[in-house]
Amino acid sequence: MIEFQSVSKQYSHDAYALRDVSLNIGKGELVYLAGPSGAGKSTLMKMVAAVERPTGGVVTVNGQDIGRIRKAGIPFLRRNLGLIFQHQRLLNDRNILGNVMLPLLVTGAPKAQAEGRARAALDKVGLLDRAKAMPLELSGGEQQRVAVARAIVNRPQIILADEPTANLDRAAADRVLDALRAFHAAGVTCVISTHDDEVLGSATARVIRLEQGQLVGGAV
Ligand code: ADP
Ligand code: ADP
Repeated sequence: MIEFQSVSKQYSHDAYALRDVSLNIGKGELVYLAGPSGAGKSTLMKMVAAVERPTGGVVTVNGQDIGRIRKAGIPFLRRNLGLIFQHQRLLNDRNILGNVMLPLLVTGAPKAQAEGRARAALDKVGLLDRAKAMPLELSGGEQQRVAVARAIVNRPQIILADEPTANLDRAAADRVLDALRAFHAAGVTCVISTHDDEVLGSATARVIRLEQGQLVGGAV
């Protein structure tokens, strides 16, 4: 489902964010992407979503070569991806329900259907009772679960969560991870990055580890 073949990313002349990374993530897998800050985790995820393109090697997502994807094809690619990226904050000018409905409304879904699906998504992350609250009224962990609901409301095949537990205490982090694992249990391919090995905890899932842009374990 996600394949990297000798992928490199150079942002500048002498600095590699990723170097010669090869890996395969299969349909329905749950994979943790571990490594210290600056290891290249975000860069790897951005390449799956065609936010960045490789400067070497080939990235394939659902059979599509990301390096060759045309601009017009990017929305179709992203329709199959649930993205939880750090810069994608909730919109503070609308309530939680409005935030989660937005991805459906922009793809032309009727309002009633969008609202029903958004409510179902909020229910799945345990926040249906906060549907009318504004983002800033929620705790950091609750906001992150809203971001999870927003990412899955389109029913993507793949969820990419970049440091979804950063800045959360253990209990809040566990609730976010539980929500993500529930989608994995329902068949969704999940990639979750973290710089915090405690997040991996007792996880029996596969761990792909990056250091200074290179794989140091977990790739097949
Ligand atoms: P991580 O997510 O593991 O913290 P990143 O993928 O964000 O790592 O960064 C990997 C390396 O690439 C870092 O050295 C970072 O400074 C560099 N980098 C990331 N994005 C850019 C960019 N847009 N321009 C230049 N360098 C970048
Ligand atoms: P499916 O469409 O396959 O049944 P969903 O879980 O997305 O799966 O739910 C779809 C519909 O079910 C929604 O449009 C909504 O009307 C209803 N629904 C499910 N759960 C809830 C809920 N917690 N609150 C309101 N409506 C819900």
